[in-house]
Amino acid sequence: MRSADRIRTLPPYLFAALDKKLAAKREAGADIISLGVGDPDLPTPDAVVQAMSEAVRDPTTHRYPSYYGSAAFREAVARWYRRRFGVELDPEAEVVALIGSKEGLGHLSFAFIDPGDEALVPDPGYPVYGVSTRLAGGTPVSLPMPAERGFLPDLSAAPVTERTKILWLNFPSNPTAAVADLDTLTDAVEFARQHDMLLAHDAAYSEITFDGYVAPSVLQVPGAKDVAIEFNSLSKFSNMTGWRIGMAVGNAEALRALGVVKTNLDSGAFTAVQRAGIVALDGPPDQLDELRAVYQRRRDVVIETLNGLGWSLKPPLGSIYVWLPTPNGETSAEFADLLLDRAGVVVAPGLGYGSNGEGYVRISLTVADDRLAEAMDRIAAAVGR
Ligand code: PMP
Repeated sequence: MRSADRIRTLPPYLFAALDKKLAAKREAGADIISLGVGDPDLPTPDAVVQAMSEAVRDPTTHRYPSYYGSAAFREAVARWYRRRFGVELDPEAEVVALIGSKEGLGHLSFAFIDPGDEALVPDPGYPVYGVSTRLAGGTPVSLPMPAERGFLPDLSAAPVTERTKILWLNFPSNPTAAVADLDTLTDAVEFARQHDMLLAHDAAYSEITFDGYVAPSVLQVPGAKDVAIEFNSLSKFSNMTGWRIGMAVGNAEALRALGVVKTNLDSGAFTAVQRAGIVALDGPPDQLDELRAVYQRRRDVVIETLNGLGWSLKPPLGSIYVWLPTPNGETSAEFADLLLDRAGVVVAPGLGYGSNGEGYVRISLTVADDRLAEAMDRIAAAVGR
């Protein structure tokens, strides 16, 4: 049999290679600490698990869900956007439930990208934007996120053409942990309007922020709904990566187009998971304060250790990552290899996030405090100078 060219020409999924190497080391008996993948180690809150266990016993949840999400889930999303951002959403037309936000990020390209079309993707950035563009037959075009600009884009220099259909942005950022203020998002809305393209903002880490910083929604920009949609997810917000539940909100026409792809390719998120998601969205804000405190504590351990070793990193204000330049001009893969071999610690090589990620590695804060402390001790011993 012959698989499609579009599969063969994709870059290998970053973590597949990492996972393989990690498995081989573990097989050989090594005690490896993985700071490679951003998958929260903490459990889903009890109230959410309780809601799920009740919902799953209700046979009405066992049937096909509604494609766009249940009315109750979409209303809960609208309630949350009002409470959290002061943004009004029409739950009917301006909210779609997703099977995890990654599903929506992937499917959006099929709703907007024809063969030969282009999408501007943050470089470095979460790989799914570019991969889905490619799968849809388009070309991802690198939108540099330079360190000198705090990993924010210079849109006035963006390589836009008349084939550019989507501007992808993601703040707080995976992998750089950069955050954007409302001015940056306002510029992006203006840019999308000027060039007649969709602005797709991925806000998956909007709730994981530190030192009192509060991340904005792109929909807080006046008029944003004319040109923008925003993705969010309960994965990081409520430690629900395994449950697969997220949402897209904003421009009704774009969401309808996304819905056309979804109705043809998937059948919506499990109704019981949506019910549990409502409990997460309506949950008490102090649950999030606790979560933020955990990551902030871990962030501080990592930053203190690394700065003690000679780095001069500013503590990031959001996300679950620390983005670290390699210390002695190593490539990102060389430095990741060095840490695996000398410290038994896995980090994600920056090149996996785009060519501008070369020279960096990403540390994830999603392991228990004692293991993270151990990882930092080992890194200190391995690269101490
Ligand atoms: N966006 C970003 C920036 C991410 O880092 C991730 C997952 N790591 C996702 C979206 C996907 O999250 P999910 O599909 O679990 O909602």
